Amino acid sequence: MTQKWDVVIVGGGLAGYVAANLLSRTNLSILILEKGKSVGGRARTNKMNNQYLNLGPHALNNKGIAKSILEELGITLNGKSPKLGGILIENNIEYAAPFSPLDLFTTKLLNWKERLEWISVLLKIMKINPEKLANQTFQHWAKDVTQSKKVESLLYTLGRLATYCHAPELVSAKLVVSNLQIAMGGVLYLDGGWQMIVDQLHNKAIVSGVQVQSQTLVKKIKPIEQDQFKLILSTNEEILGKYVICTTGPHELNEMLIEEGNHEQDSVYDQITPVKGATLDIALTQLPNPKILFAMGISEPLYYSVHSHYARLSDDTTSAVLHVFKYHHPGEHIDEASVKTELEQFLDKLQPGWQQYVITKRFLPNITVNQRLPQSGDERWLNRLKTKIPGLYLAGDWASPNSILADGAVSSGKDAAEDLILYEKRKNSAN
Ligand SMILES: Cc1cc2nc3c(=O)[nH]c(=O)nc-3n(C[C@H](O)[C@H](O)[C@H](O)COP(=O)(O)OP(=O)(O)OC[C@H]3O[C@@H](n4cnc5c(N)ncnc54)[C@H](O)[C@@H]3O)c2cc1C
Repeated sequence: MTQKWDVVIVGGGLAGYVAANLLSRTNLSILILEKGKSVGGRARTNKMNNQYLNLGPHALNNKGIAKSILEELGITLNGKSPKLGGILIENNIEYAAPFSPLDLFTTKLLNWKERLEWISVLLKIMKINPEKLANQTFQHWAKDVTQSKKVESLLYTLGRLATYCHAPELVSAKLVVSNLQIAMGGVLYLDGGWQMIVDQLHNKAIVSGVQVQSQTLVKKIKPIEQDQFKLILSTNEEILGKYVICTTGPHELNEMLIEEGNHEQDSVYDQITPVKGATLDIALTQLPNPKILFAMGISEPLYYSVHSHYARLSDDTTSAVLHVFKYHHPGEHIDEASVKTELEQFLDKLQPGWQQYVITKRFLPNITVNQRLPQSGDERWLNRLKTKIPGLYLAGDWASPNSILADGAVSSGKDAAEDLILYEKRKNSAN
């Protein structure tokens, strides 16, 4: 028998679950289809040897839209905010990062002229209306606000930290600067990892009557008539839905929509570049150098942070869970072995001898952090795409023009649910 649902949500990550939780307040029947064995998408946390490893370093913006929507949904977010500051490395030399007021005045990274320029740039970031930067790249804006190469490269380092984007010549200044403003409100490292968000969203959805089917890959989405979609699964089973919310990446969505022999949709989707990186997620019995908790490369796009110093990420209170990360430039050729060596050597500098303390580790050479590198002009084509097929709603970290990462995923899930509810109300009142 063919299953029939009011709303079928493709993808059980943050976007899908946020949409499901909001829709569960209506009397619509809701089904989530997830291809993975477990739900949560990129917000999953793996428990390995009693250590909780997120898929790469995950920090939730204190002032971001994701946190406020999740709290509205009744999700409890326990954890701590890491202290501002740490180390910046340039040409193998370590400097205090000029992120906190004290380090700003004492770091040897900057001379007095550069110090004043850096302060003035930070003040500009705080005050500017990002809308004014809608047509500029981040590089264009950075070169406008500073003459100093050092300050410019510091801006790129901070931009990478806040957005994961490592392409100042391409990325939208509006998006990076608005994310820098949000990041200045600090972040949260979550106790138990981001799985805590996933588990709570999942449990609330189930209690409210949402059905979740994992290990179910959707192969095709076909609009068959008004308010009727046919979803074909990899098993060739068919599911009917009045509405579909798709939260997969844009390229997967394109594959699902393409009819045999019709490649019309290809071009828009093919222009969407993902933001990618390599992550080395590690748990150690102890830190050889307990004082070093955070570091970034300036010339090298590298990151290191000990998340367990702030969040409970282990059943054993003495171990340390940390992430070493490399931001990839879009289109860069990735040589897995050399990226791994690069990350390990970065860790050698900060925690010499770490290898003898390893409890567990995992290396992912080329993971998608955000499905869309945000560029100016995205808003126009995104809005066009969203209204192209009535009844098909798009969500996911690429689908929101003004936010990325969890903020983009969560807010787009909320928008999709609200648009659908509004459409349904209008239709019912017209009948
Ligand atoms: C290394 C790394 C670090 C990050 N750090 C941060 C951070 O510090 N702060 C932050 O805010 N965000 C961070 N993020 C981003 C954040 O994890 C994602 O933006 C968010 O989890 C995306 O949620 P989503 O629902 O849009 O997509 P996903 O989590 O990808 O969910 C989509 C789901 O759809 C499923 N799916 C795909 N195709 C199909 C199909 N055909 N049929 C059925 N199911 C399908 C997938 O299996 C997946 O579960 C990071 C991500 C990574 C990888």
